[in-house]
Amino acid sequence: MSKFWSPFVRDLVPYVPGEQPKLTRLVKLNTNENPYGPSPKAIEAMRAQVNDDLRLYPDPNSDLLKQSVARYYGVDASHVFLGNGSDEVLAHAYHAFFLQDKPLLFPDISYSFYPVYCGLYGVEYEAVPLDEQFQIRAQDYTRPNGGIIFPNPNAPTGCLMALETVEQILKANPDSVVIVDEAYIDFGGETAIRLVERYSNLLVTQTLSKSRSLAGLRVGLAVGHSNLIEALERVKNSFNSYPLDRMAIVGAAAAFDDREYFERTCSLVIASREKLVEQLQGKGFEVLPSAANFIFARHPKHDAAGLAAKVREQGVIVRHFKQERIAQFLRITIGTPEQNQALVEALGEL
Ligand SMILES: *Cc1c(COP(=O)(O)O)cnc(C)c1O
Repeated sequence: MSKFWSPFVRDLVPYVPGEQPKLTRLVKLNTNENPYGPSPKAIEAMRAQVNDDLRLYPDPNSDLLKQSVARYYGVDASHVFLGNGSDEVLAHAYHAFFLQDKPLLFPDISYSFYPVYCGLYGVEYEAVPLDEQFQIRAQDYTRPNGGIIFPNPNAPTGCLMALETVEQILKANPDSVVIVDEAYIDFGGETAIRLVERYSNLLVTQTLSKSRSLAGLRVGLAVGHSNLIEALERVKNSFNSYPLDRMAIVGAAAAFDDREYFERTCSLVIASREKLVEQLQGKGFEVLPSAANFIFARHPKHDAAGLAAKVREQGVIVRHFKQERIAQFLRITIGTPEQNQALVEALGEL
């Protein structure tokens, strides 16, 4: 803290990302990165973009990528918004929609960036408890609100909500923007993008960081009614006109165009998840049903922080959250079969 800090900054509580260790021999199952690399076509496209053109600004509208996303989802490009990671898309969405008199609603167990943005933008919120099975209940989202946001599948639980339930929430809140944060939807869920035409209050966000294995490139997107997209563009163009650089635009577009690689690597992750769930259940873990590229598991007889420390000593990192309700859970990213095996061995006999 210094005298130069504005009073506002003194009270800010920033997000704490999962550890990115400098040691490379560690098996990293802590930040939900994809164990398989990005599409080779994406890498090729980015390589070709490293040239003299870098002296020029990129396309501020990233039209090439908007068209790839629009083609992939069968929507019009005017329904697509892009940002420097979906975290940035979410930040602009808070600015555009959630500065209201009534509180924002999100689940008590959810993405920990949501309350952080509330702090940054001065948005009041109510954390709505998940039910006993760690599921989101639509009827809990009928109270007065200035907006609603939740991940689907939820993070860090991995639990998927049926599209019918998403629809119930949309119908019950025609005067609020409802953001469905689909960071993990490609690992077993069905996207709500097909509801965008019917619900003008729906904004679906996605990222290329997980299922398209481009966390290092920082690209996220939103799909919604063009009225919502227009508000996001206003905020974006009042903040940074060029959030996506030249490499990001071509790399992300090539990743979206390479369906075959995308589908194959998602299937590999899903198959590994099912195997790891079985192995952990065999060791006595309770594992929440996951539709994501991670699982959320607790052992009835072993302290979660202790288990995280134990596997860490053997070079495997998993994520542990201190929040009371989930303090006995570990969030484990699905790795390659070899990485998952390293975790199983590091856990040993329990
Ligand atoms: C990873 C993640 C994001 C952010 O992804 P970006 O890397 O910023 O695109 C957003 N929401 C949830 C729930 C996530 O897990």
